[in-house]
Amino acid sequence: MEEEIFIKNYINGELVKPQSNMFLDVYEPAIGKIYAKIPRSDKSDVDKAVSAAIEAYPSWSATSVTYRSEILLTISRLIEDRLELLAKAESRDNGKPVWLAKSVDIPRAASNFRFFATSILHFSSESHEMTGEALNYTLRQPIGVVGAISPWNLPLYLFTWKIAPALAVGNTVIAKPSEITPYTAYLLSEICIEAGLPKGVLNIVHGLGTEVGEAITLHREIKAISFTGGTKTGEIIARNAAPLFKKLSLEMGGKNPVIIFDDCNFDEMIETTVRSSFSNQGEICLCGSRIYIHNTIYEKFKKQFIEKISKLVVGDPIDDNTNLGAIVSREHYDKILSYIDLAKKEGGTILYGGNSINVSGRCNDGWFIQPTVIEGLDNSCRTNQEEIFGPVVTITPFEYDDQVLQMANSTGYGLASILWTNNLQRTTYFSQKLNSGIVWVNCWMLRDLRTPFGGMKNSGVGREGGFEALRFFTEPKNICIKY
Ligand code: NAD
Repeated sequence: MEEEIFIKNYINGELVKPQSNMFLDVYEPAIGKIYAKIPRSDKSDVDKAVSAAIEAYPSWSATSVTYRSEILLTISRLIEDRLELLAKAESRDNGKPVWLAKSVDIPRAASNFRFFATSILHFSSESHEMTGEALNYTLRQPIGVVGAISPWNLPLYLFTWKIAPALAVGNTVIAKPSEITPYTAYLLSEICIEAGLPKGVLNIVHGLGTEVGEAITLHREIKAISFTGGTKTGEIIARNAAPLFKKLSLEMGGKNPVIIFDDCNFDEMIETTVRSSFSNQGEICLCGSRIYIHNTIYEKFKKQFIEKISKLVVGDPIDDNTNLGAIVSREHYDKILSYIDLAKKEGGTILYGGNSINVSGRCNDGWFIQPTVIEGLDNSCRTNQEEIFGPVVTITPFEYDDQVLQMANSTGYGLASILWTNNLQRTTYFSQKLNSGIVWVNCWMLRDLRTPFGGMKNSGVGREGGFEALRFFTEPKNICIKY
């Protein structure tokens, strides 16, 4: 019997228990059992973390960019050194295959630190001359103490995507990982201690969204909040933060369309569409969940798509042959299955999957769902409008360009769109007209960290990535000097 893991907060450079001495259970989704405890922190722990961050701020913000860059590079290297350990931890916490965490999540967490450690060396601000009269120049100074709140689907990947730019420009940070997947955030605190990050510069407080998350959002000394998670939570954060005039970056849900024209490279499209539908059990905000196919290739698509999906293995995340691991929590598993039931009630036909799966052996009590394909639904039904965030896609034929454009833009979300065509006119037309922050043409999840990342409509406010992130985490100040 393995020993239960006790996760601690990271406050003022030390690993500490919550002041209340209360803890929450953490489940391993593949086996459906508790394997760790995290602090059930509250406002008093957040207050302690903020005091430490305020104390650390003057010296951290006064360090040179090369100094901060070196520390962030050290953290990046230590993440790489612990690839195996972190990948296993991520998989255990989230249910995703170990191979996926090892090839995507953990390398990307290391890249996040490396990217912002080096981009800060090239970040610059503007000057505006009023000829013969004056010179304006803009200082971009750190904001002070900032908050980062992240979700469970790409735990270390998204946590570090916020922390790295915030630290790079000289802020001190209060960060809260999802209570459902806290393990790699804890391992990151150990890495930060080893890397020599000065105490109080980064503080990681574990606990519930309604307790720790709200305490962060409502704290007057935390001047900016970078949040990734569900749209409903984003709404609460926006409501809480607005009267305090905090700077906000909100990365929220998606219901991304995949638009497939008959002039695309069919084989490449099919391979990629399987990935864009079911990678990470479909639990990526960027997954395509509504697939629209030109009617001339609809039947061909359907046949080949289902053939490929039938070969996907749903199984133990530690097995290298597993394509889809476990669903992150019992609650989320129930939610996905309830959407499959809803789809049936709405008149959908389940072409493939539609059920939970029992994975025998060690994973007998785990939470697994088959990749699921549904057809025959009206575009306006709830299944096609609401975020399911699981291994479930709908397929719908279309005839005309403007018809599919209207369907693609019809939801409240606007995060990403995926377009498959080799027609240049169509590419430029759709790229302009699709209401989403990201448009992938003939590809999916091809990411350059310099590009703006985020959504429109109910998918987000603000952008992450590259200099956008550095701008978010700084306060511009204009100085006008008269000649
Ligand atoms: P969630 O909104 O339930 O939780 C996200 C984080 O917010 C967690 O740390 C949680 O504890 C915290 N939180 C919850 N209530 C809070 C409150 N009242 N105040 C402050 N913090 C609070 O989201 P989730 O279920 O962890 O993640 C899934 C969602 O995240 C999906 O909707 C998905 O689309 C979205 N997501 C978006 C992106 C993106 O880049 N746009 C990326 C990944 C995930």
